[in-house]
Amino acid sequence: MVAKDATSGPAADWRPEAKDQIPLRPSLGDEIYQRLVDDLISLRIPPGERLSIDGLARRFGVSQTPTRAALIRLEAEGLVVKKQYSGWSVGPLPTLDQFEKIFELRSLIEPASAARAARHASPEALSDLGTIAEEMRTLAAENIGGHRARLVVLDSRFHTAIARACGNELIEDTLGRLFTQMHIFRLRYHSDVAHAVIEEHLDILAAIAARDPSRAETAMRGHIDAGRERIETHVRRSD
Ligand SMILES: [Zn+2]
Repeated sequence: MVAKDATSGPAADWRPEAKDQIPLRPSLGDEIYQRLVDDLISLRIPPGERLSIDGLARRFGVSQTPTRAALIRLEAEGLVVKKQYSGWSVGPLPTLDQFEKIFELRSLIEPASAARAARHASPEALSDLGTIAEEMRTLAAENIGGHRARLVVLDSRFHTAIARACGNELIEDTLGRLFTQMHIFRLRYHSDVAHAVIEEHLDILAAIAARDPSRAETAMRGHIDAGRERIETHVRRSD
């Protein structure tokens, strides 16, 4: 299973590229996806609930094709599951144990990934990181609660871009798998990206741009630790 935070459909390569960037005016499939993510985050549609393509298409007043595309994307992210006879349903909530394992591995790898990125990031990679951080800052300043699903996707994209810029494809692949699972936590437990996240990203970016590996490592470690604390409360409450 791989992350699908791209907007161009299930067949797209998951690695973020210019063509994958979320357009400012989202497509119909994106709109349906965002609406369903909001329903799942808020638990308006609870875990285990059946989802019918026909029912959702009627509810949103759209055809079945973009509805099915949105469900396929949610399935790839682990938010919904598809069973052979019963069809689509909302996936189970991840457990506290899974959460702790994911963060243990993140805190081992991501500071190193940020330090490597400070040494190896190309000018294009730096510019990509700057674009993502800036887009997050703009959306957060505009309406942080209203853009929560999009901010979660951009946060994941920021970390993926650092892993890609670090120049070790094994680190990139490992973190890619981890981010898919991470994404589920972010989407299920912590609907809002805190304003602090935006500042922490800018600190990490500044250290990478300054070609300062130890500062980048420290900034990333602080961000992961803070993120763990921010989400842990929500996970414990539900566990
Ligand atoms: Zn982050």
